[in-house]
Amino acid sequence: MSETKRTKIAQVLKHHAESGIGNTINIKGWVRTKRGNKNVAFIAVNDGSSINSIQVVADLANFSEEVMKLVTTGSCISVNGILVESPGSGQAVEIHAKEIEVYGTADAETYPLQKKGHTLEFLREIAHLRPRTNTFGAVLRIRHHVAFAIHKYFNDRGFYYLHTPIITGSDAEGAGAMFHVTTLDLNNIPKTAEGEVDFKEDFFGKSTNLTVSGQLEGELGAMALSEIYTFGPTFRAENSNTPRHLAEFWMIEPEMAFYDITDNMDLAEDFVKYIIRHVLDHCYDDLEFLQKMYDNELISRLNFVIENNFERLSYTRAIEILTASKQKFEFPVAWGIDLQAEHERYLVEQHFKKPVILTDYPKDIKAFYMKQNDDGKTVRAMDVLFPRIGEIIGGSQREENYEKLKARIAELGIPEKDMWWYLETRKFGTAPHSGFGLGFERMILFVTGMANIRDVIPFPRTPQNAEF
Ligand code: ATP
Ligand code: MN
Repeated sequence: MSETKRTKIAQVLKHHAESGIGNTINIKGWVRTKRGNKNVAFIAVNDGSSINSIQVVADLANFSEEVMKLVTTGSCISVNGILVESPGSGQAVEIHAKEIEVYGTADAETYPLQKKGHTLEFLREIAHLRPRTNTFGAVLRIRHHVAFAIHKYFNDRGFYYLHTPIITGSDAEGAGAMFHVTTLDLNNIPKTAEGEVDFKEDFFGKSTNLTVSGQLEGELGAMALSEIYTFGPTFRAENSNTPRHLAEFWMIEPEMAFYDITDNMDLAEDFVKYIIRHVLDHCYDDLEFLQKMYDNELISRLNFVIENNFERLSYTRAIEILTASKQKFEFPVAWGIDLQAEHERYLVEQHFKKPVILTDYPKDIKAFYMKQNDDGKTVRAMDVLFPRIGEIIGGSQREENYEKLKARIAELGIPEKDMWWYLETRKFGTAPHSGFGLGFERMILFVTGMANIRDVIPFPRTPQNAEF
């Protein structure tokens, strides 16, 4: 085949006037569909650069039957052809093929995506191929744009990207059950004289785990660089089989010196609105596709969230509202309970009909590091609750007082020897500071309108599932 520089299909479709009607171009990609008659074949080719495929028209007089037989749904081809304005509806331009090279065939009998309309459940079983569907193409492109927007947001505001460790020696965060990291021989575990696992023999000489949050280390960064954020994988061995939990997910955790809880809420609200605006500005074709397929209110919901102030109220006030509502909840409401998704969604979807930020939670249901209020009962926590999702962000102002933090650690029975480095930040140059964690996949759920968190990450890890 003659040498022509490849043009991405998105480029061809977007800038067809510039790429030049009448010019010979090359495109490469995977065949989505092939139809036609005995004279001509219409081949839709997609290279992932856009939700839209380009139509390749092949005059069968110019191609051997042998080659055309190999051009089937799922095969990968390279096409040289002339870009022309399309007479058909549905596309502005098409390519009249001069040469076609088949890079890889896809046997029609066995290619799992031969037919359209597979369920999302089935697609999870073929996670190695599902990026080739329109749905996952759209989700993965949006995922990329959100990640990029997050880095841009913080970079533009002088926050530094801090890489916190994935393997941690502290298991005191209390954010969730942890996965052990070990090189010990599980068939021959070394034991101490007391009969316990001898972690001195282990790789790090101590018990280690996969991180459940980068926050504690993030705080160390904020106490030097003022404003940092982390963006990394997070692991929780919780057996919660819900549409909102993964065992491996990504979290963004900004941590800011000199921010109080109000500054923290202002940042969280501005940040999520920025992400949504970025997606509306950069992923409109994909959003329209997802709206048509899965969620007919998607785009209006995204616009609604950026146009309205989030409702801010205390946990205590929220409990009053839930109690006064005549709603039947599966989990009964009383001051002190950890709010369930059903409660959070009632507040957001039924009562306020917009995102809500709850503050000042009972200290017993929140982490040890949150700043204690003067009432002795509540801490300066803030959770951001979204429609369809429930909790999307959890954060707080941190306790910066050495004595109070030390007392709380003792009260909860957390071994001080594991926390000495964290406590030292309060001993040397402590400062008021705040931060929060945004669950990346929960944000992607919200902006894509998808219903299950397994469908917004390329290779989901959930209980009993780590095939791909
Ligand atoms: P939830 O109550 O929903 O289980 P959490 O209170 O345990 O969440 P945090 O420890 O506050 O969560 O974590 C910060 C954010 O990380 C949450 O607001 C959420 O967006 C996200 N998140 C937490 N756990 C998971 C998970 N298992 N899978 C995906 N995202 C998660
Ligand atoms: Mn939380």
